[in-house]
Amino acid sequence: MTTIKQIKYVIKKTVGEEVLDLVSFLRKKDSVSEFKIAEHINQEINSTRSLLYKLHKQDLVSSIKKRDKETGWYVYYWSFKKNRVNQLINSIKEKEIELLENKLNKENNTIHFKCESGCIRIDFDSATNFNFRCPECGLVMKNKVNREEYICDLKSKIKKLKTDIK
Ligand SMILES: [Zn+2]
Repeated sequence: MTTIKQIKYVIKKTVGEEVLDLVSFLRKKDSVSEFKIAEHINQEINSTRSLLYKLHKQDLVSSIKKRDKETGWYVYYWSFKKNRVNQLINSIKEKEIELLENKLNKENNTIHFKCESGCIRIDFDSATNFNFRCPECGLVMKNKVNREEYICDLKSKIKKLKTDIK
């Protein structure tokens, strides 16, 4: 099951909000001509097509072309690919996990120094540059362990994302 909330989440993260109107119309239909879509979202056919191509790039829509009996021209009919939404959600979350894990590793592997008056907290290299004195107040900076709260927060975010994906 794909909810509108999931769809909006994916759209915002991948294509952009400008296609939201189009998607909320298209997701309820089976196959709609590009002209009907344009009419419904109140846009020129060219801008409608460019929105559809943006969605197509993320593989969120598919199209078939049919020949119009009266004009003899080909018209594209579009469908929204609901199944693709969950795939995209997972890949977005996997990327987020990777990012958070990098932050966590960095936090765990960096030695930080903190001014005793609480002015500033800097990494080892910067502390060396300042001869281990606070650049703000001049106090000697003490080797300080890492930010436990921040680490906890990162860990719980990672854990949550991992359960979401399963
Ligand atoms: Zn200081």
